[in-house]
Amino acid sequence: MRSSFILRASLCCSRPQYKAKLPTMKEMVEQQMEVQQKAMGKVAIYPHHVMTRSVLECSAELIKSGTFVSSLLELRKTAADLRCISFSAPKAHWDAAVLLVKSNPDQAEFEVWVNPQVPGYDDRNSAAAMYGMWENCISCGAVHAWVLRPQRITCKGLDEFGKEKCEVLDGMRARCFMHELDHIKGKTIIQRALDPEFVVSGISMSQKDLWPANFPSAEAYVTPPLHFFDYVTNQVVVPKGMEWWCGQEASPSSQHFHNQRINQ
Ligand SMILES: [Zn+2]
Repeated sequence: MRSSFILRASLCCSRPQYKAKLPTMKEMVEQQMEVQQKAMGKVAIYPHHVMTRSVLECSAELIKSGTFVSSLLELRKTAADLRCISFSAPKAHWDAAVLLVKSNPDQAEFEVWVNPQVPGYDDRNSAAAMYGMWENCISCGAVHAWVLRPQRITCKGLDEFGKEKCEVLDGMRARCFMHELDHIKGKTIIQRALDPEFVVSGISMSQKDLWPANFPSAEAYVTPPLHFFDYVTNQVVVPKGMEWWCGQEASPSSQHFHNQRINQ
């Protein structure tokens, strides 16, 4: 848009015409990789000390301060540069209970939660319906962990202006919210995994056909990346918000298990 404006302006002035050189696909990819690499340098990697302890709640005074506004702006930019669907303050070395989340990867803006809470979240005796998923994390290297989380949650907290909000979340939005909530509490997917067998490398995720049958569990074995295993209906499902992305999977190994059901 900007280059066409410059070209039109030069025509009006009867100056020599210069065709704007559009970047090639290779240049655009290189540019994007450079942006991501630069943003990656700002990310705290587990077990960095900010990733291993609860962060501070934000006071009403802090939320109104210029420091908060500029830190939030920086957090948003880092998350956008990294093309994350969710992000949280500890990942950017910010000691504050702030998380960002989108409902799907194509949503333009992040929603902001300050001092987020999920009542009953740590209740290990809860009978809530659960999804299992292979999660990964920008702060945990190439690790993937099988993590069980409630299918729907009620979230309480503040928006970026300090106004109270309470919402019921489901699908990928709920999953990402809980992932970031764990970071705020000093936990990662490694601590959330059921057992050490439920933590594997990224490379091994693309070699699932070489795993022992039903490793590390029948549910985890049949569930491809980006999908949920629904423990109520006993089948693999596409998470709400990930419909397009799951449809674009190109890896044959990740398609071996689509729509497989257990015990049916
Ligand atoms: Zn994470």
